Amino acid sequence: MSAFINNSDVSRINFLAGKKAAVVSKDTLKVLAAAKEIGIESGGAFDITVRPLMKLWRQGQSGDIPDNAGITAAKSLMGLQKLMFSDEMNRAFLSIKGGAIDLGGIAKGFAADEAVKIITSAGIKNAVINFGGNIVAVGFNKRKPWCVGVQNPTAPRGENIGSLFVTDKSVVTSGVNERFFIIDGQLYHHIIDPRTGYPAKSGLLSVTVVAENSMTADALSTAAFVLGEDKSLPLLRKYNCEAVFARESGEIYCTDGLRDNFQAADKISF
Ligand code: AMP
Ligand code: MG
Repeated sequence: MSAFINNSDVSRINFLAGKKAAVVSKDTLKVLAAAKEIGIESGGAFDITVRPLMKLWRQGQSGDIPDNAGITAAKSLMGLQKLMFSDEMNRAFLSIKGGAIDLGGIAKGFAADEAVKIITSAGIKNAVINFGGNIVAVGFNKRKPWCVGVQNPTAPRGENIGSLFVTDKSVVTSGVNERFFIIDGQLYHHIIDPRTGYPAKSGLLSVTVVAENSMTADALSTAAFVLGEDKSLPLLRKYNCEAVFARESGEIYCTDGLRDNFQAADKISF
């Protein structure tokens, strides 16, 4: 599903965009369907047709910040209505040449769910799966819920703003700290607001989503980061998810359902 591996399903969909449908696996179709559904439910904040913008911003890392014309051109190649797929025919099609999809905001969650299926079918009842930011806590840790750290978005990996105590839940964080670059004192990160074409600025440094399903948590953490706290709450509720928000102002907010499961760290600053 990587857009960086030649001949992956995603690369073939992108290569054939505007020409013809690509034959893809059932797994890819499952992820495309979930991505499109959450994309629509999020009002377009989550949009896997974001790749033309990602490419522009990737070039930006070398100092070449995209200009308005470039952003407008990339945006014109986007849109979930341009993505079509058929489960029966195992095919997916992007209807515009130059259009391209990027499953970076959801595929890790899918992979984590698959890993859970593999270990549970092998008889393992208690485990933690960590796919770098995508965690699934299965069962218990010595009869107690697993403790999952919530990364401090402004500190090195491993420094937490708090801990979540969970069982049979996925915990997924999206934030400014994962991939970013700084030019002229301005931080540019890897989560793009499809509406503006710029890295999302919604008053958050990170959002951590807690859900039954890791693919849902993954897509929703990216969507919530783009939407911001207030606008993402109805979406999270709709999918029965809880979340911890790290606000730009340095405060933490966790949704009601996590009140007994989240413990803020003693000394936090971010
Ligand atoms: P995550 O770390 O799960 O929040 O995903 C970030 C990755 O998702 C980026 O590196 C891109 O590959 C992709 N992405 C960026 N912005 C969006 C967006 N608005 N909707 C969907 N995927 C996105
Ligand atoms: Mg994500």
